[in-house]
Amino acid sequence: MNILILGGGGREHALAWAIRQNPKCDRLIVAPGNAGIAGVADCAELNINSRADVLEFAQDNAIDFVVIGPEAPLAAGVSDALRGAGFLVFGPSQAAAELEASKTFTKEICDACGAPTAAWARFTDAASARDHVTAQGAPIVIKADGLAAGKGVTVAETVAQAHEAIDLIFDGEFGDTSVVIEEFMTGEEASFFVLCDGRDCLPIGTAQDHKRAGEGDTGPNTGGMGAYSPAPVLNEALQAQVMDQIIRPTIAEMSRRNSPFQGILYAGLMIEGDRARLVEYNVRFGDPECQALMIRLGAQALDLLLACAAGRLAETSVNWADDHALTVVMAVNGYPGPYKKGSIINGLSRVTESSFEMIFHAGTSEENGQVTASGGRVLACTGRGATLAEAHARAYRLVDAIDWPEGFYRRDIGWRALTSRE
Ligand code: ATP
Repeated sequence: MNILILGGGGREHALAWAIRQNPKCDRLIVAPGNAGIAGVADCAELNINSRADVLEFAQDNAIDFVVIGPEAPLAAGVSDALRGAGFLVFGPSQAAAELEASKTFTKEICDACGAPTAAWARFTDAASARDHVTAQGAPIVIKADGLAAGKGVTVAETVAQAHEAIDLIFDGEFGDTSVVIEEFMTGEEASFFVLCDGRDCLPIGTAQDHKRAGEGDTGPNTGGMGAYSPAPVLNEALQAQVMDQIIRPTIAEMSRRNSPFQGILYAGLMIEGDRARLVEYNVRFGDPECQALMIRLGAQALDLLLACAAGRLAETSVNWADDHALTVVMAVNGYPGPYKKGSIINGLSRVTESSFEMIFHAGTSEENGQVTASGGRVLACTGRGATLAEAHARAYRLVDAIDWPEGFYRRDIGWRALTSRE
């Protein structure tokens, strides 16, 4: 079959790498792709956020299955346009993508189906929001309502900080005119990935990521500097609880509202003792969690995504290997602030890649046979092994093979799981 993946980051390289290995895949096109993806697929220029452009491209290239990587095309309704024209699509409808795009929508769904989450309130004017914070006290969490690429959330330690965050939102910093204020939850965060076909659900793994740029989880927030799977804190009992109390009720509520959810539901959870609460939903794979999940799933990933898109999850299961994966992101100096593009990355040809050791490319380009850095997060060095320690050693062996003075990475990815549980 001919498959089109939309996106060009490390997540899409990992998806392409796994899908390519499945004999059902005849032709694989990734738009726009990157220098690493070009090694496993054809890359194509395409405005992936345009419903009309993607539809025309899929028709012209006799595509049988479209996998949508990032959230922007989902929020733009690209999946609806493709499904409407009869294409098989992995990715939720624009209406169902509200689970990521609107924090208020998600909170309302949680209230309607009884899913445990932080207590919340929404305000459309600064004065009432400020009064609410003064009454509640700190710590407290202030969120711009819409998509703000992780920058719209302030975990305020003091009432003054919370007031400042509210003023920023109402000054139009995020293009939002409403704010969600939440109870501060304590605990350990973990991610749970569940395929949903509108009716049935199939968990495909857990992960934990490191959001901060600096070692010891310090410094500014980033898109993610590393991740590992599985997340030891999300044990089987907790996974069953999350399926019963959060995921299945959400899916049922979405169907009840005539917006059945089809795609990957990525639940960000806060775990405290034997209780899990929802922090947020995303409606696409996380980057870099996807890299850790895909190296574990391998070729079966395509069968799982196809079953999800075709509504066959009830008759589908995951062939689990008892393994672990860990991925270390190499980013360009300066990231997540301003950075230079175009530095040369050496050492990639020294690496022998396998189903245990893969370097997934995020922001790379190829010029005159040289791979150069073209984005903030550039490479995701990913190892898999029988233990997390083995996966960790493999991932850092890849990192150490790279010769790129303009880049940086964290040496401590996985520290929590490695020090406390192994
Ligand atoms: P991202 O880009 O990371 O998905 P986002 O803008 O969608 O972020 P959230 O995931 O809702 O925002 O919040 C970002 C982070 O803020 C969470 O990962 C968590 O660490 C923290 N956070 C959010 N809500 C709460 C809460 N109620 N209690 C404690 N911490 C929270």
